[in-house]
Amino acid sequence: MPVSIEKLRCGECGERKMELTNVKGQSFCYKSYSSVKLIVDCYIPQCKKCGNHCFRGWSQDCKRVDSAIEQSLELGTDTTNF
Ligand SMILES: [Zn+2]
Repeated sequence: MPVSIEKLRCGECGERKMELTNVKGQSFCYKSYSSVKLIVDCYIPQCKKCGNHCFRGWSQDCKRVDSAIEQSLELGTDTTNF
């Protein structure tokens, strides 16, 4: 069962003001890349206060982000290697 967004708490500032946000255009670290820019739509919980992404422990969203990153890589997005 996925955790409901109301129960998520920001790992950075402790606020419970997570909001599903389209993170298209933002960069994420993934596998051997230090950053991969998302160029497809992807909605994940993001803290309204500090902007921290909070999808760790929310398994459904980990998979959603992973597949969005993979799609972006296939489309030839900007990446940075370590
Ligand atoms: Zn926060």
